[in-house]
Amino acid sequence: MIYHTRNTYDAIVVGSGITGGWAAKELCEKGLKTMVLERGRNVEHGKDYITEHKQSWEMPYRGRAVPREEAKRDWPVLSRSGGPSETTKHFYLNGRENPYIEEKPFTWVRGDQVGGRSLTWGRQSYRLSDLDFEANARDGHGVDWPIRYKDLAPWYSYVERFAGISGQKEGMPQLPDGEFLPPMEMNAAEKAFKQGMESAFPDRRVTIGRTAVLTQAHNGRGACHYCGPCSRGCSVGAYFSSQSSTLPAAFATDNLTLRPHSLTHSLIYDPETSKVTGVRFIDTQTKEMHEVYARVIFLCASTLGSTQVLLNSTSTRFPNGMANSSGALGKYLMDHHFRLGASGEMPGLEDRYYTGNRPNGIYVIRFRNLGDAATRQPDYVRGYGFQGGASRASWSRGIGGPAFGADLKNALRDPAPWQMWIGGWCEALPNEKNYVTLSDQTDAYGLPQLKIHCTWHENEFAMRKDVPVAAAEMLEAAGARNVSMFDDFVEDGIGAEPGRCIHEMGTARMGRDPKTSVLNAHNQCHDHPNVFVTDGASMTSSACQNPSLTYMALTARACDYAVSEMNKGQL
Ligand SMILES: Cc1cc2nc3c(=O)[nH]c(=O)nc-3n(C[C@H](O)[C@H](O)[C@H](O)COP(=O)(O)OP(=O)(O)OC[C@H]3O[C@@H](n4cnc5c(N)ncnc54)[C@H](O)[C@@H]3O)c2cc1C
Ligand code: SF4
Repeated sequence: MIYHTRNTYDAIVVGSGITGGWAAKELCEKGLKTMVLERGRNVEHGKDYITEHKQSWEMPYRGRAVPREEAKRDWPVLSRSGGPSETTKHFYLNGRENPYIEEKPFTWVRGDQVGGRSLTWGRQSYRLSDLDFEANARDGHGVDWPIRYKDLAPWYSYVERFAGISGQKEGMPQLPDGEFLPPMEMNAAEKAFKQGMESAFPDRRVTIGRTAVLTQAHNGRGACHYCGPCSRGCSVGAYFSSQSSTLPAAFATDNLTLRPHSLTHSLIYDPETSKVTGVRFIDTQTKEMHEVYARVIFLCASTLGSTQVLLNSTSTRFPNGMANSSGALGKYLMDHHFRLGASGEMPGLEDRYYTGNRPNGIYVIRFRNLGDAATRQPDYVRGYGFQGGASRASWSRGIGGPAFGADLKNALRDPAPWQMWIGGWCEALPNEKNYVTLSDQTDAYGLPQLKIHCTWHENEFAMRKDVPVAAAEMLEAAGARNVSMFDDFVEDGIGAEPGRCIHEMGTARMGRDPKTSVLNAHNQCHDHPNVFVTDGASMTSSACQNPSLTYMALTARACDYAVSEMNKGQL
């Protein structure tokens, strides 16, 4: 039985995570009556951060990873890497009810609740540059982005001003500066690393992480007090999430209707007008199918969630899904490859300490393949940045060790030596051999499961040879001792497999040519002008920067365009 939700809206937004929250805010503030459909349950800011202030002794497993059997049953994918923890498991989707098929290992980390993964993200926020927007055109991998940095720069500023990004201006063209709140401070060992590394490599730059965490009160939200467990939720609103930031702004307009427990099934197409008129969704509590209608639809269900909706919108007119006349839908899946780098001990700072849990690290700005001969790498194209930080282990390092008695106590009175690590966050190429399709098997709601086929290829492996060596070189140049390199990649196994970085991108890429891309320069489907996809699915290349700030800017820009087209009567 299909229930027709007779209310017709101006706009429907699918998903309420980072991009859905932005779409809701922008469309509502521009006067559109907007329905947000979210597959997960509601999460109220503050009230539903159920472990936020819990101490370890208040939790059955002391806040550690949930027991293996439970994890394997309910979070089969996360359990492969030891998670989830008791403190955050309620923010991760139950994998038993929502399985997918991995033709090769692909760790798909999903958060299905109002707010999506905006509640658990790491908040690192960097702009892309023209080095990134021109990359595909320059080296021939993938299609050309239909936009350049100048098209997105004002929208980066727009979203940064609202979200609140703290950081340090550096004047490096490959990582454009933003509208920053005051930067967080590096600790003593990070400062020493910066000084030593930059004197050995004058063209390289270490900066404090640019992060969507407030260093001063901003837009009615409180400043961060460095307590640390951000992924449990932050009732201060010190980090950007849909709950702390965009959804309250959307609600304030009175134009927002938010419907949790509403799993979007497919788009509705009217053959008479040749237009998409709305969406079908399943009420996950009653399992009933509903239909709801609107003039414009924004798919913000996360990269693979949005592509799944389009692939599932099949009919005799669209046997391969909607927005797929190019055949590119589902293809060119990317993620950043990571979990490799180096670490070492920073000596000579034994009398220097730090307090609190700064929710941020340091960032080494990309220095490979910048377009000049000096930085060109013969073995691979594109590049990587490093994230990392320095800390001193506390007395707990003595637990389980082979010592006891007074000597052990004395040895643990002081923190351990400074340990510094840096790990590469590396660009992956858009490759037709990395793709998703729908399988014949269905999930608990009768939706075809996604079948994912994604592996790293020659360019990624060539880059991986360089990253740990470069990391070790920089640490040693800065005076680190006992430097060791690491690379967690395991052939056909779990360690540094695609998906693991949780920056899945592509599968409905933007492009200039409708024959080779799904979306145009405004994230609008070439085939269906009133349907927009503004999450990571739209990415034409991956760059090496954490991508969510770019999704925010693309979303705000696409909303502005959609509303101006509606006002002109074009949509
Ligand atoms: C631990 C962790 C650390 C991260 N760190 C960073 C970082 O430092 N920097 C960075 O840039 N990114 C980071 N990310 C990635 C970041 O969270 C995502 O890029 C971002 O959340 C994507 O936004 P989105 O709106 O596309 O998807 P999400 O935030 O995942 O939201 C999608 C929403 O859509 C809903 N949905 C899905 N399908 C449907 C459907 N069919 N119908 C209705 N609703 C649906 C989901 O339930 C979800 O609520 C991190 C992620 C995690 C988990
Ligand atoms: S460290 Fe800062 S952002 Fe994180 S939970 Fe604490 S106050 Fe919030």
